[in-house]
Amino acid sequence: MIVKPRVRGFICTTAHPIGCAANVAEQVRYVRERPSLSKGPKNVLVIGASGGYGLPSRITAAFGSGAATLGLSFEKPPTDTKTASAGWYNNRAFDKLAAEAGLWAKTLDGDAFSDEMKAETIDLIKREMGPIDLVVYSLASPVRKDPDTGELYRSAIKPLGQTFHVKTLNVDKAEVHEVDLEPANDEETEATVKVMGGEDWERWMNALAGAGVLAPGCRTVSYTYIGSELTWPIYWHATLGKAKEDLDRAARAIGKRLVDVGGDAKVAVLKCVTTQSSAAIPVVPLYASLLFKVMKEQGSHETCMEHVQRLFETQLYGDGEQRLDEERRIRVDDRELSDQVQDEVKQRWPRVTTENLDELTDFAGFRYDFLRIFGFGVPGVDYEAEVDPQSIEPLA
Ligand code: NAD
Repeated sequence: MIVKPRVRGFICTTAHPIGCAANVAEQVRYVRERPSLSKGPKNVLVIGASGGYGLPSRITAAFGSGAATLGLSFEKPPTDTKTASAGWYNNRAFDKLAAEAGLWAKTLDGDAFSDEMKAETIDLIKREMGPIDLVVYSLASPVRKDPDTGELYRSAIKPLGQTFHVKTLNVDKAEVHEVDLEPANDEETEATVKVMGGEDWERWMNALAGAGVLAPGCRTVSYTYIGSELTWPIYWHATLGKAKEDLDRAARAIGKRLVDVGGDAKVAVLKCVTTQSSAAIPVVPLYASLLFKVMKEQGSHETCMEHVQRLFETQLYGDGEQRLDEERRIRVDDRELSDQVQDEVKQRWPRVTTENLDELTDFAGFRYDFLRIFGFGVPGVDYEAEVDPQSIEPLA
């Protein structure tokens, strides 16, 4: 079949197998060109490994540190007539490149929130990997089934307390407009904490520690976003922020659990990038488009891969001191939150309109990044060629 992007709002329902594989190869090339991590991890579990921030974490561990990696994700396989989700192709591309490099890699597909997936993972670690020295928790999901009660929780991306009137961007129509975002009720807030908070991270670490599969000095890191005043009403001071606050609680609890193995649990605050999850958050596409423009102009823009590489090189496995805040979170969002960047973004924010969108913002860059997630727009890929949706190999 010939695969074209089919965008519906903030998702693309098709993915290009060859384009996704080329994306992964590009990220691997980037890491290979960086100095290797001399003190890097050797046996790594990445929960949420197929895209966004999880995939570069896996790539850095494998190709920057020579680590064996076990990746977990929840992706849609292809059918004869439909393409798979992008992450499904990314996983295959990663596994292939790892095998070619002689690196142990396995990918499990299923619900990481479930106890079955945890048991299967532990079993695989025991049989094939040996003790884990880094666990990256990079899940982003709209739903979670509580394994104890069977109850299904859905997250709600909403402000708290009062209606938030804000400027936003209709990505399909390239239109800036204003919306009223209604506040969440208590039930919605609690559900969001259940889905995106620290409970499942804690459950994972308890299960791994209980099974004795954590190496001495094992580290675990979970990713969060804080952002600036522009996004706080819909993120940090909203339902998602409540969930992310719960990660801080979980980090402390996991830290205590890991004392036996001399381990460490940290939350890392990352910058705003275009991923399947971030594109779905109201306000974020407009904020990201502005941010990218300003950071590119000022020479401080980073891709997802570059950002994660900096996290590993300078914070997780660097020689210097970690940049920690008062909650002991690792801060790599320093460039995004610098006064130089934020002052300019805030100055442009009230001025952005549909008419000057391309002039004041990098909406084109946001869109480009968005399509690239699904394997479209990758230089060198022939999008007119027939592809097999079951395979990341070009048809002969
Ligand atoms: P993403 O949507 O790109 O990736 C999410 C990953 O989770 C995918 O691998 C997906 O397969 C996996 N996943 C989802 N549900 C699953 C399930 N039930 N079982 C197994 N795997 C499942 O998201 P992302 O933007 O990379 O977000 C990852 C983390 O990074 C989140 O904690 C997010 O808050 C954080 N973060 C994101 C940004 C940003 O701008 N995107 C900024 C800072 C922090």
